[in-house]
Parts: sequence; C-alpha cells; structure tokens
Amino acid sequence: MNSKLKFYQSIRVKIALVFALMLMLTLECVGAVFVRQLEHQNLNTFKQTIELPSYVDNSLSEQLSRSNTKKADQEIRQILSEVNNNNISEIRVVDSKGVFRGTSTADNRNIVGQKTTDAMVKATLLNNRSHSENVYDGANHNRYYVNVIPLNDSNNNVVGAVLLRASLEGVYSNINNITLIYFSAALVTIILSLFLAVLISQEITRPIEEMRKQTLRIARGDFSGQVRVMGNDELGQLAGAVNNLSVRVEEAQESSDSERRRLDSVLSHMSDGVLATDRRGNITIVNNMALQLLGVDHEDDLIGKSIIDALDIRHDYTVRELINSNQKEMIIDMSAGGNDLILNAYFSPIQRESGFISGLVCVLHDVTSQQKEERERKQFVSNVSHELRTPLTSVHSYVEALSDGAWKDQDIAPQFLTVIQNETNRMIRMINDLLSLSRMDSGTTKLNLEYVNIKELFNYILNRFDMIIKKNENNKDSKKYTIERYFTDKDLWVEIDTDKFTQVIDNIMNNAIKYSPDGGVITTRLLETHNHVILSISDQGLGIPRKDLGRIFDRFFRVDKARSRKQGGTGLGLAISKEVVNLLGGQIWVDSVEGQGSTFYISLPYVPYEEEDDWDD
Ligand code: ADP
Repeated sequence: MNSKLKFYQSIRVKIALVFALMLMLTLECVGAVFVRQLEHQNLNTFKQTIELPSYVDNSLSEQLSRSNTKKADQEIRQILSEVNNNNISEIRVVDSKGVFRGTSTADNRNIVGQKTTDAMVKATLLNNRSHSENVYDGANHNRYYVNVIPLNDSNNNVVGAVLLRASLEGVYSNINNITLIYFSAALVTIILSLFLAVLISQEITRPIEEMRKQTLRIARGDFSGQVRVMGNDELGQLAGAVNNLSVRVEEAQESSDSERRRLDSVLSHMSDGVLATDRRGNITIVNNMALQLLGVDHEDDLIGKSIIDALDIRHDYTVRELINSNQKEMIIDMSAGGNDLILNAYFSPIQRESGFISGLVCVLHDVTSQQKEERERKQFVSNVSHELRTPLTSVHSYVEALSDGAWKDQDIAPQFLTVIQNETNRMIRMINDLLSLSRMDSGTTKLNLEYVNIKELFNYILNRFDMIIKKNENNKDSKKYTIERYFTDKDLWVEIDTDKFTQVIDNIMNNAIKYSPDGGVITTRLLETHNHVILSISDQGLGIPRKDLGRIFDRFFRVDKARSRKQGGTGLGLAISKEVVNLLGGQIWVDSVEGQGSTFYISLPYVPYEEEDDWDD
C-alpha cells in the first residue's frame, strides 16, 4: 500500500483548489458585469457632460440663418470661444450646405469655408437627426467620441449642424483604474481565501488522516491506538466506526490466535502424525509426531515437498488419486536399515463448503507393533499346527501300520508302540508348555514367591544332574559330562518361585547336555553385584550361529529343527524360561561362539541384607 500521498492527490489541496477556483470564477463573472456596467455608466455620464447648452445651439442656428455670412462667421467664432467645456476637444459648425463655418480650435481655422466630406455630417443634414460614433485616431492613439447634432430654425428646418469631438481617454483610464483596483482586490481575496481554504480543509481532513493512520496501525496488528471522535457528524461517526472496527478486529485476531495456538498444541501433542498439503499435494503443515515417524529432523525439510515423496508412495499412487478418492487408508512399510516401521496412513481431502478441494490431510499412525503381533500370531498358529501335525502324522502312520497287521509281529509292535508313546509324550509336553506360556501371556500364572538361598537351590538342582550321571555310569548309551561350580561364598537370598526357577535351570542344563558332545564340561557360576545375582551355565557344545542369537528365545525357534525334534525338544523351553525370568523381574541372555560352546546368563534382582543381619546379631 502506498501510504505517502502525492501533494496534488491530497483531499486538503483538492478542497482548497476547488474553493479558490469557484471564488475566482465568481469574482471573474462579477468583475466582468461590473466593468461592463461601469463603462456604460461612465460613457453615458461623459456624453451628458459634453452636451452644449441649448442657448448655444439657438445662437448658432440664428447665425447660420443670417444672410451676411462674414458677420455670421465672426459671431460663430465668438460663440464657440465662449463655450467653456474642458471635456470637448473641438466644436465645428457646418451650415446646411455642408460648408464649415467655424471651429473652436484655432489650429483648424483653415477648414472654414471648406465643404465637409464627413458622411455623418451629411446624414445629419439630410435627415435632421443627430449621429454619434467612437473613433480611434491613429495619429495620437486616442479614442474620440464624435457627435453630430442638427441645428434647426424656428420652423424646424435644418440650418446646419454642430460636430462635437471629445477625447474618451480620460473616461477609459478612469475605468481602467477602477478595474485594476477591482482585480487587485479580487486577487488578494483569492490568495487569502486559498490560504483560509487550506486551513479549513486541513481541519476537515485531520480526522480522516488520523483514521488513515489508525487503519494502517490495525493492518500492522497494533490495536493500541484510538481515533479521537470529534463531534457527531459523518466524520465523527466514521471515527467511532473505525474504533469499533479496531476492537472487533483485535477480538477476531485474538480468537484466531488462540484457535491457532490450540490447534498447534493439539497437533504437537497428538500421538499420531499429521500432514496437511495444498491442492498440488505439497506439504504445508507437519506436526512433531509426523517428523518423528518419518525420521526427519526439521519441518523445513518436509514443507513444500510432495506428500507422495515424503511417504515414498510415488510408485503406487498419484496426488490426484489421493485427492479424488473420498477417503483412503493404506499401510505403508517404511522399515529401513533394520528398523521396523509400519504406518497406517489415512488420507482425507480438505473440502470447502463450496465443494472446492483445497488440499489433503494425512494422519499417520504407527502400527508396527500391531502388525508385528499380527504376524507373530499368524506365525504362532502356523507353528503350533505344524509342530502338532508332525508327531500326529507319525502316530497316525504307526497306528495304521499296527492295525494293518504289524501288531502281530512281536519284534516290530513294541518298537512301534514306543515311538507312538514318545510322540504322544512329546505332544503332551508341547501342549503343557503351550498352556503354561498361554497362562503367562494372559497374566493368570500365580507365582509362589519365597525368599530362597539361591546358592543352595542351584547346588541342589546341579546335584540332581550329578546323580543322573552316577546312575547312568554303566549305561553306554547315556552321555558323559562333568559339572564344574564356581560359586560365591556368600549365601544369597532372593525372592523367587522355586518350582518355576528349577524348571528354568533344568531346561538350560538339559540343553547344555543335549547340544554338547560326549564328555563335555559344563561350567556353572554364581556371583552377585550390589543389586543383582548372576548365574551362568557354559557348555563346550555346538554353540549357536551368530545370526540366530537374537531369536533363540522365540517360540518354536530351533537352530536345527530335525536334531531338536530327535532329542524330544519342543522349541518352547527357552521361550518359557525367558517368560519365567521376566516374571521374576530378571533377565536372561546368551553368549555363544559357533562350534565352541554357549553360555546362558540369568540375572535376578537382589537386595543384600548383611548389614541388617549384623545388627541383629
Ligand atoms: P528345544 O526343545 O529345541 O531344546 P529350546 O527352546 O530349549 O528348545 O531351545 C531352542 C533352540 O536353541 C534349540 O533347538 C537349539 O537349537 C538352541 N540351543 C539351546 N540351548 C543350546 C545350547 N546349549 N547349545 C547350542 N544350541 C542350543
């Protein structure tokens, strides 16, 4: 907006100029009429002053009627010399034949006796009427008034004429002087009135100027000022309206500001990502969660970018498709570099009341865990069915073989029955494992917590394994192994569920034996930190490939499925162990080098009581 007005554009100057022009026009018109009237008046008055008294006319008529012309001419000269009128420049007397008989000017005496050539004189003599005209004498640049008056005898016959010549310069210079005075006065009046008009229009436009400044301030967002309301005229009312407008705009601005802040805060605290775009699909609004989900540090990196590029869906959709489809929901897999990220994107067009679509809103919801759970659930169901189908198929085929006659064979039948028994046992174990996992999943597992000296319990469990070795000493088929113990001297009292904990250690010990070659050493350790006890069981067995280390505690995961099944494993042992240890507030993890052996660690929370015990003692 151009806030600076040019001088001639200002209303103040316009009003003053219009005012002055109107005054000038009026004064011009009045002046013209006045000068005209003045001229007319002055000329009339002048003409009256140069009229000859009637006795002069009579005397002249008398002389012209005389027969003695010489005597008469002398008399005429005498009469003319007696006329005392300064306004008359020259008086000439002509007889009825048109011959000059006398003049008041001595220098022109030579014309006496000459015949006039003047048309006006001739006309007067002819029609007995006076004639007059203004003439301009180029010789001395003077204007003259010439009047020819007929002279009559007593019978009203023309006996001659008198020609009066009077200079008009005096009259005109008088008129000029008065005109000059008038126009000078008019000029002064116009200048003064122009000055006054500027002052008055300044007064009129001052509130307008104030309102202009106030509206500029409102436009800048400054609502502090108020226009002074002067009077109750139209400008006063306008000033009031501007003040009212300022308050309204301020209120509207405040409400839209607070609305925007609220929207900003809602957007920034939303747990879903929100993106808004213009009609071309370029991002205009983005909230913190969307930045986080899309792994972008700063919103400037997204603003202006096409939404289909930001979500990496250019190959599947166009902006037009997203805008035209009324509402669209899709799952976008944005997993990258080992980071799983699955987003549910919900698109909806932004539509004005007129139906015009001005952009898109996209709400992003992180469904990674749901999708993962869903995948795991499907995987689990498929695993369970698969795991159960294998033993069932073999049971089915053995039963079929038996019923087809193998039961009669005394050598084969017992073998078949043993296989059937083993398989059904494995199935029962698996179902029991699944049930206990399911109980732990649903949180219905009841823990029998008690303070137990973990060193004693660990020793007790390991002793059982030593007993098994002793018992199987003479059995050539059973595996030989040695258990070594490196335990802390201290008794460590830990709050655990003895049965479940025993199940965990049994499982890890069994695995260590299962997946180790004959004659291996199993090293067990027990130590404590200031708030944890850590148990470890190391074997010298197959070890676990590096790539499988992260999945070893997953349900049904086995490095070598056939081998595990042959050993009667269900693939659920470590999964159950992990759930139990987690329930006890501890952690379980594994360290392994393929071909060299594995070490399983269990840490449990532990609060040392020694100081208190000392005090009691
Ligand atoms: P399973 O019933 O098959 O033993 P687990 O859940 O106890 O099921 O163990 C899962 C898998 O982890 C096993 O199949 C095996 O491949 C691997 N595993 C467990 N313990 C050891 C170990 N001490 N040494 C080598 N591999 C092991």
